[in-house]
Amino acid sequence: MGFEDELERVINQTREKQAIWEKEVAEMRKKSFATICVHGAYTPEEALRNNSGAMIEPVYSSSAQAFENAYWLEAALSYKIPSWVYSRIANPTIGYLELVLAMLESYHQPINASAFCTSSGMSAVKTATEPFLVNLRGGGNGEKKNLVSMAQCYGGTFQLFNERYRRERGIEVRWIEDPANASEWEEKIDENTRFIYGEMPSNPGLMIFDVEPVAEIAHKHGVPLIIDSTVATPALMRPFEHGADIIVHSLTKSITASGRVIGGALVSRENIVWKAAPDDQIRHDFAGWVKLWPARDAGPCMSAETAAHSLDSLKTLRMRMDCMSRSTMEVAEFLEAHTMVESVNYLGLENHPLHALAKKYLKLVDSDENRYGHLLSFTVKGGLENTRLVFNRLRMIFRATDLGRIKSVATIPSVSTHQQQGEEGRRLAKIPANMIRLSIGAEDVRDIINELDSALGAVH
Ligand SMILES: *Cc1c(COP(=O)(O)O)cnc(C)c1O
Repeated sequence: MGFEDELERVINQTREKQAIWEKEVAEMRKKSFATICVHGAYTPEEALRNNSGAMIEPVYSSSAQAFENAYWLEAALSYKIPSWVYSRIANPTIGYLELVLAMLESYHQPINASAFCTSSGMSAVKTATEPFLVNLRGGGNGEKKNLVSMAQCYGGTFQLFNERYRRERGIEVRWIEDPANASEWEEKIDENTRFIYGEMPSNPGLMIFDVEPVAEIAHKHGVPLIIDSTVATPALMRPFEHGADIIVHSLTKSITASGRVIGGALVSRENIVWKAAPDDQIRHDFAGWVKLWPARDAGPCMSAETAAHSLDSLKTLRMRMDCMSRSTMEVAEFLEAHTMVESVNYLGLENHPLHALAKKYLKLVDSDENRYGHLLSFTVKGGLENTRLVFNRLRMIFRATDLGRIKSVATIPSVSTHQQQGEEGRRLAKIPANMIRLSIGAEDVRDIINELDSALGAVH
């Protein structure tokens, strides 16, 4: 038999195997959200077929994959068969995580999605945005480019856009100061805009915007809407339902609530809107393309150990987001009534200016109930001095720049996560000096409230 025939045999053999798995995954996709969290693409058949029956996704702690012969090697390295090759490109453990994330973000929607996991949330933001900023006509740096983003985004994202993209590469960054006002997005976007970026909700300011009209504006201009959905998680909102093209996550946060690892993901819907796309196949499976091409050459890959930690934690995502959101609502009500608290920022509070919009977008999946997440912030009367005193009195709640944990965590954004962006950056991001951000965990809410009550007792 000739070389071409052998190659074709290999391709057909793997295609058949792949088709069987795809059928199993399609069956799983019809089930409820909590069920998909638990099982994802790791069916009993998959366990038996590829993993000696291992009950749980094994950790493929191996740099590379070995091949039977030249045909298999060639088919794999030319991406003609599903294979993993080398752990900078792909890895089976990470593959299971990518599949379940894609399933959850496209949950019960008539679209397919794909995902690519990265070493951190920041590398997810970078790998999701960078392909839109290259010189699409090749060569010179003459192309005018801008990106439009809400100003109240995560501190690292603000720095990436403002320092790395704007200052170092000369890309114009157009900040949206009032993201809830759709006409500001409309005004700032033009024919040189490469993508539109928002957080739903933002960390730590809890800003949100009306995704549907903003997606329409983006699509009218032929550019993708990219949403960082770290704070909401797919348990509370799935941005594809509202027109987003690409979703980024810091898996470090709620998705891996244990707090053991740093990780990120980008998830794309099929056929993203991108008028300047080099070809249709790239629009069709953007995450898959990023993974196999630009990311292969840059190396922002996740480790298999990280993927295993994320998979473990993801299995309880829905119940955790439900429990933590309920507790956060109670904490917000307690803080609002406290005399030493100047203001409370929680989307679940009825007097919050964005409450009606939050009600539209944040719901516990597979229920009719609104849940507003585990993140809130409040300001302490008496400025930064008093804020430090209250913060220093915390006993059980950890002081750390972290969130989404199974344990409650507090930070002062103005002196930590948002310190580097300076006063002007903090004004844009609406981060007052006396703000404490709280990420509520799964402790008994009475213990959390008691602790906050005694910490606030430190100031008068
Ligand atoms: C933490 C965070 C990031 C960055 O994620 P890392 O995993 O820390 O790199 C991005 N976006 C949001 C909203 C975050 O909270």
